[in-house]
Amino acid sequence: MTNFEVREYDAAGRLGELDVPRAGVTVSTPTILPVVNPHVQTIDPAALEAEFGAEILITNSYILHGSDQLREPALSEGLHDLLGFSGAIMTDSGSFQLAEYGDIDVTTEEILAFQQEIGSDIGTPVDIPTPPDVERERAERERETTQERLERAAAMDTGEMLVSAPVQGSTYPDLRERAAREAKTTGLDVFPLGAVVPLMNEYRYADLADVVAACKRGLGETGPVHLFGAGHPMMFAMAAALGCDLFDSAAYALYARDDRYLTVRGTELLADLEQFPCQCPVCTEHTPAELRKLDEDTREDLLARHNLHVTYGEIRTVRQAIRAGNLLELVDSRARGHPTMLDGYRTLLDHAEQLERTDRVSKDAFFYASTESAHRPEVVRHHERLDRFDIDAETVLLTEGGSNDRYDETWGVLPPFGPYPRELAETYPLTAEVPDRTDRAAYEAAADGVARLVALHPDTSFTLVHDDWPETALSRVPERVRLQDLHARE
Ligand SMILES: [Zn+2]
Repeated sequence: MTNFEVREYDAAGRLGELDVPRAGVTVSTPTILPVVNPHVQTIDPAALEAEFGAEILITNSYILHGSDQLREPALSEGLHDLLGFSGAIMTDSGSFQLAEYGDIDVTTEEILAFQQEIGSDIGTPVDIPTPPDVERERAERERETTQERLERAAAMDTGEMLVSAPVQGSTYPDLRERAAREAKTTGLDVFPLGAVVPLMNEYRYADLADVVAACKRGLGETGPVHLFGAGHPMMFAMAAALGCDLFDSAAYALYARDDRYLTVRGTELLADLEQFPCQCPVCTEHTPAELRKLDEDTREDLLARHNLHVTYGEIRTVRQAIRAGNLLELVDSRARGHPTMLDGYRTLLDHAEQLERTDRVSKDAFFYASTESAHRPEVVRHHERLDRFDIDAETVLLTEGGSNDRYDETWGVLPPFGPYPRELAETYPLTAEVPDRTDRAAYEAAADGVARLVALHPDTSFTLVHDDWPETALSRVPERVRLQDLHARE
């Protein structure tokens, strides 16, 4: 697995480089692969490359294979000339059609050979996209079939073409994890997480977060991970924070066709817009009223361009957030766009321990931006770190205020982290910016930290000086800790 290199982590999010040897290009990730329909090109691939900086796109080899007009030109000219695109081209195999229509007329061997013949840079076997919520037995059976096909694909000589290994398993986390672990053993190159589109269409972001987290547990840091069919910019930050590197979508074009306007907070109807909340060329040069008056084709083209600008803009925002170490602050702010996104974010934080493993130790700042911040990986890590401190003192003061030499040792206390040795006060994440009027979740997390420390040192006597903590937090502090209110004491 030498084609993918991670440059930087934030939570499980990663800045990476995917080397695509057949195309002779290196693709920066996270990124989006615009879906190009070989028959109907809303925005032509040359424009994707020149105007939007697309380094990679995805098209469907099954459509080409079955097309009387396009099959021969694809074989004779090759995919890059046919589409007019010099970057990396990934091809899908017809699995989508299989899911839609229940039957396709190619095998994995035939379609992979065809993908190689037409010059695809990343090919895809025919996996079985098992939908969410099916019976477990079906999910198991189809996962096995997919795995057999991946193994057959891995056994083929596909030259320099990379080959993807889709991970299925429906909505069963253990099956997803197992599918991922077995997909990894094939030595194939790219790992699409399949059949998640129904979850996204139904705004089931919590289930999506569980599925992605399960797949990632199976894959480990093997990559890159492709969230198949994910193209709405509102969920890029969340998916990236869980460890997805590639997204693909026809949303920019499909939505434009229906006069739908993408934003990072959700989707708007052109009919409802009085102003464009966007700075892209389309939105600065037109008003919604002007766009509504245009003929359908022009309007569709302009809306598709806006949708792409927002999509690539969000990809850049996600990359910069990973670079800056504030991806989770970005996820937090995106999660406010829709209550189901908030469910997704909260579910992501259920996996904080998993995300903590790759999260980097030091960043610029931790912003306590919401009650969810109390459950971030940094808090989990701080609590785990408490296990490693020796305390060689009979009496220890844990305090949000100043030290007091009546005690052998004084530790600081900072919600949501809890107690910390004072010499660490200037280190990440204890340099956190926390609002003065913080919330119960922060105090409760701090109290959990106190409880953990106290349990580790049964022979030490602890006093906690807190700044008006609520009862729900104080009740989490072990009884043997003496409590004082910071202001009552003055
Ligand atoms: Zn715009």
